[in-house]
Amino acid sequence: MNSGEVKKIRDRFLKELEGSKSPSERKKICKRYIEEELSSVFCCLKDLSGENKAKVGKAANELRQMINEKMKESKESEETKEEWLDVTLPGKQPSFGGVHPLAKLQERCEEIFAKMGFISVEGPEMENEWYNFDALNFTPDHPVRDMQDTLFIKQKDREKLEAKDKLLMRTHTSPVQVRYMEKNEPPLRIIVLGRVFRNETTDSSHDINFHQLEGLMVGESISVANFRSVISFFFKELFEDSVEVRLRPSFFPFTEPSFEVDVSCTICNKKGCSVCQKTGWLEVVGAGMVHPNVLKSAGVDTERFNGFAFGVGLDRIAMVAQEIDSIRLFYSGDLRFLKQF
Ligand SMILES: [Zn+2]
Repeated sequence: MNSGEVKKIRDRFLKELEGSKSPSERKKICKRYIEEELSSVFCCLKDLSGENKAKVGKAANELRQMINEKMKESKESEETKEEWLDVTLPGKQPSFGGVHPLAKLQERCEEIFAKMGFISVEGPEMENEWYNFDALNFTPDHPVRDMQDTLFIKQKDREKLEAKDKLLMRTHTSPVQVRYMEKNEPPLRIIVLGRVFRNETTDSSHDINFHQLEGLMVGESISVANFRSVISFFFKELFEDSVEVRLRPSFFPFTEPSFEVDVSCTICNKKGCSVCQKTGWLEVVGAGMVHPNVLKSAGVDTERFNGFAFGVGLDRIAMVAQEIDSIRLFYSGDLRFLKQF
């Protein structure tokens, strides 16, 4: 080995580099020369002697420096190529999302009830028959259990299962009352906001799913007057208006006594319009004093505690508040509708 041979390697290297087509190819050539050709030169060095060793060493070092420089240049031009950006291309129009009108309403409900000390809790959308019906004092032959109204989950040998194992899509948010009371001691104030399901034919005011606001207050000596004040405060805050609230007797399996709550029509101000069907009032809430059987199902001492519960159809409230004429619009995913909020 002499310095002439190192020069030959250098010439070969430069020639190969010249013939290369891209920075990444040049980088590969540099790497190969350092790892193979140069390292074998350095390997031979220990067997050489005197002046020749010094010459070859010097030439090899110079060549290594040169290859390293070429490698650095190739790397840089490769990076610039990757980052190169055509600034003359037209930009992408960002599309903005928005909060769904129902989600907005749910948030507002939470805010209002938080002012009265109610906390918001959740429960499963797929329930079992015990929580959805039995625990809420529905008799085994209650018509709601019928296939017409409830979406049952297909299960093998369903008839043989216990009520707690028979699955369905919850028909109301009330099962969460029992679930919460099982784990928490009164006094308690909760609201439940969520989706519920019914096996219904869809039309402008019915869909297979809709949203409910459920409220529950349990404590010592809770009265209908307490309920009236809570629900009146809620609607006055929600409609930012002097709405009137009235209670009418009704029947629900899980409350006794039960009432329907009407609020004065915010659109016509009690004069009568198509939304309130000329009555001046909107039926929006089902409510009542919690039936002792429901409290017992959840293990609450009925000698000491009582309470009230109510359910509000949120879709209906949102329709009235925003003057929307079909419930189906909420679930259609139509941007022309959603962009208005
Ligand atoms: Zn009206």
